[in-house]
Amino acid sequence: MEVRTRFAPSPTGYLHIGGLRTALYAWLFARNHKGKFILRIEDTDQERKVEGAEALIYNTLKLTGLTYDEGPDAAGEYGPYIQSQRLPIYKVYATELVKRGAAYYCFCTKERLAAVREEKEKKGEAYTYDKHCLSLPGEEVKSRIAAGEPYVIRQNIQKEGATTYTDLVYGDITVPNSDLDDNVLLKSDGMPTYNLANVVDDHLMHITHVIRGIEYLSSTPKYNLLYDAMCWEKPVYIHLPPVMRDKQNKLSKRYGDASFKDFTDKGYLKEAIINYIALLGWSPGNDREIFTLDELVEAFSLEGLSKSPAIFDTEKLTWMNAQYIRALSDVEFLRLAMPYYAKCLPQGRFDLKLISRILQPRLETMNQIYDKLGFLMEMPDFETDLYNNKKMKTSPESSLPVLKQAEEYLAGLADYSEETLHEGLLGLVEKLGIKNGQLLWPLRIAVTGTMVTPGGAVEIICLLGKDETLKRLHRSIEQLAAQIG
Ligand code: GLU
Repeated sequence: MEVRTRFAPSPTGYLHIGGLRTALYAWLFARNHKGKFILRIEDTDQERKVEGAEALIYNTLKLTGLTYDEGPDAAGEYGPYIQSQRLPIYKVYATELVKRGAAYYCFCTKERLAAVREEKEKKGEAYTYDKHCLSLPGEEVKSRIAAGEPYVIRQNIQKEGATTYTDLVYGDITVPNSDLDDNVLLKSDGMPTYNLANVVDDHLMHITHVIRGIEYLSSTPKYNLLYDAMCWEKPVYIHLPPVMRDKQNKLSKRYGDASFKDFTDKGYLKEAIINYIALLGWSPGNDREIFTLDELVEAFSLEGLSKSPAIFDTEKLTWMNAQYIRALSDVEFLRLAMPYYAKCLPQGRFDLKLISRILQPRLETMNQIYDKLGFLMEMPDFETDLYNNKKMKTSPESSLPVLKQAEEYLAGLADYSEETLHEGLLGLVEKLGIKNGQLLWPLRIAVTGTMVTPGGAVEIICLLGKDETLKRLHRSIEQLAAQIG
């Protein structure tokens, strides 16, 4: 038997981290079994539909490498793969379910349904539809439909007994049938609900393993009753625990931590995000944490899935992202960093290879580039207090003469390459009979105005170049001289 899994997102405008994890697991499972992975767009809830949302789904899956074998913009024998293009199919099966006694036409108005609900609530009972239309005579149903009266088709659930199935993660799930509502399968506008569409499509698309969020765990018995009514073989079910920000709260749009794009926008690499979310509810059974997509395919198995809610740990992701940044080749890092450089540096003025070499080991997320390079464009006003460094035993007073010597030396230097600067400044240290830090610390402060910079004095002076270095150094010396008096 060929394994066939699917990802079935609703195009709501963004791809939730939890959704992407579902896609990843379904993809990994299919690839691990040399099976097929199918993308199906579930857009029957027209009110939730968002412009551009489908494209975002296609692009994200392609970007992350979660290639699908069948889908709206891929080949496939069982399409269309967009539910709104399958309406005639759902109608056929809804009607067939009516014929088989597993569903019925319902003409109840909103007002009547509201009254039933109110009645139930008064009695303190949970609302379920009262099967009012189930007893309508066949002739009446026919003539009301012929007369154009709006109707829905509801699932007909026998309220006695219980329905049980085995979920591969959560074990045996039993739901008393009295808890199951006669939900709408086909709406009055001809759109199916999820209740019908997921069953029909999973069957017609030959899905063998349904991997989806836990929110469907307790309604799966209802779907199984439909499979039974149609004499269809049921898929294997694998429900996944939720992804949470902390014990109480889900990830949310409002906190900017809900979608894949939220993180790529913040400068996380797609490979790191995928690697991190692979571990949100799955474990390889050992301590290993860093995996390429291919390695995940190799290692993935359903036994490693967990029941407990996964806590999204941004710190951990950030750590992982830093590992990924560090592991990039020089060329790849430069390619990824270019758009950031383009935004914060004037074209052609700085040695981007040198900047990259300085930054790459120091970045946790790519957009830290902006912060770290701020000093290149502009030197902040700063307090001469910064020249105090206990460890180096420097102070504003000790720094002034040293800086003057450095200025003189640097003014006479023509070659501002790293090697020459390095040798030259260390030569100056020796000549002055001081420690390295007693020159390099004040010098770095004097040309950047900040204590925290990526790279040391040599690298920074090399980056700034002669003119800018001397300009900054001179200004800082004057400021210092004026203060010390
Ligand atoms: N369209 C459903 C959702 O986005 C998919 C559920 C499923 O995978 O069956 O939640």
